[in-house]
Amino acid sequence: MADVYSWLGRKMFAKKGWRDPLKAPRAVERFRADLREWLQREVAGDVDRLDQAHEEAHQMEVLRKGARAGWLTLLVPTRYGGEFRLMDFFRHGLLKGVVFTEELAAACSGVAVLYGAHTLGLLPLFLSFDPKILKKFLPEVAKSCRGERPGLFAFAITEPSAGSDVEDPEGSKGARLTTFARRKDGGYVLNGRKCFISGGNLAEFVTVFAALDKARGVESWTAFVVRRGTPGFSVGRIEDKMGQRASPAAELIFEDVFVPDDHRVGPEGDGWRLNQQTLDLSRPGVGAIALGAARSAFEKTLAWARGQGHLSDRLWQHELGDIAMKLEAGRTLVWRAAVTFPPDPALSAMSKCFASDVAMEACSRLIDLTAPFGAARPFGLEKAYRDVKLTQIYEGTNQIQRLKIAEPWLADGGGASA
Ligand SMILES: Cc1cc2nc3c(=O)[nH]c(=O)nc-3n(C[C@H](O)[C@H](O)[C@H](O)COP(=O)(O)OP(=O)(O)OC[C@H]3O[C@@H](n4cnc5c(N)ncnc54)[C@H](O)[C@@H]3O)c2cc1C
Repeated sequence: MADVYSWLGRKMFAKKGWRDPLKAPRAVERFRADLREWLQREVAGDVDRLDQAHEEAHQMEVLRKGARAGWLTLLVPTRYGGEFRLMDFFRHGLLKGVVFTEELAAACSGVAVLYGAHTLGLLPLFLSFDPKILKKFLPEVAKSCRGERPGLFAFAITEPSAGSDVEDPEGSKGARLTTFARRKDGGYVLNGRKCFISGGNLAEFVTVFAALDKARGVESWTAFVVRRGTPGFSVGRIEDKMGQRASPAAELIFEDVFVPDDHRVGPEGDGWRLNQQTLDLSRPGVGAIALGAARSAFEKTLAWARGQGHLSDRLWQHELGDIAMKLEAGRTLVWRAAVTFPPDPALSAMSKCFASDVAMEACSRLIDLTAPFGAARPFGLEKAYRDVKLTQIYEGTNQIQRLKIAEPWLADGGGASA
């Protein structure tokens, strides 16, 4: 006898084309399946080496393979030679982006950052809404992705003495900025330093934020595209960091770097807006990186526990059930932020903060559960633990995300009296 759900499915939902609104559309699921197959073929065998050695040539090789598969031009509109169709954005917002990122991170979250840093560097150009700047750089990016050296972008806001201050509106008022641009005929001269810039040493183009006026600080922030090889622009220290080691974080040095007018992104003083809107768009992606890494750790633990016969144990059921529930809640929040239009800054902050916190908790508990084996490198959990920790830090630490969530409540002066 048919049950009520199959009857409803036949009678109504099948005819009306009903679809679970919280499920990725079929086109996105197909994309996920192709991507998984590609990751298995092209990346899985390289993960250990990418994690252990800092080899620029090897990192570039992974980027080159991804560029040829189209992964570096997902955001570049088809009219400039990329894969981006506005219609897809109308249909599912940034969902394809977060699915892409979670899958990459499940394979290796360092690789997810390697590709993600490029997207982050490109976003201010789109948000400037200036067709001239898009036309200037995007065709070159698309063309280079078919060649030997993909024209990567990187995003540079952090300075040695200004990290959270350039991500939190309150802190920004007192930010101790050190990177400045001054007007010169036909352009600007940049001086200063940026640090921890993901992919900064590999990038062909860096989207750099610099203040025009010391007194006005970030209010005078302006974004510029600086090309690799421009006189005065050099790469300093590459950080030897705990996780996501496939993605280098570089110090960038600007000494009297001349940047022509047509490399300015948006009008003068538009930098703060571009920075904030970029982070609002990209933070769900950071949540997706954390979830991808934690999901992979979870799957490894589940397979191991099954092999050891632990799954019949109530303690294991309780622990794995609780972890699965939190990761799923994180994903729901990330997806909700990804399909919200226009992007909601508080929701973006929640998705990044919650997903990275639950992913961190998951990795820690999975190592506890599988100890001592889970603490050893071959198990794969310690890499996830090291990798996920960084998602609580970049694009605004999770302390700063909590301030961001509270920001709308302060708009009216914080409600001095109730
Ligand atoms: C792996 C990695 C990749 C990165 N990639 C990039 C990149 O591509 N581009 C880029 O520009 N930057 C990048 N960063 C830099 C990153 O965004 C900053 O490290 C981050 O914003 C924190 O800034 P900070 O390091 O200056 O720390 P600080 O701002 O000095 O913060 C130190 C501590 O104080 C806390 N804190 C600060 N202010 C407050 C406050 N008001 N209330 C409560 N707590 C507060 C912070 O939460 C933190 O715990 C990267 C960093 C890492 C680790």
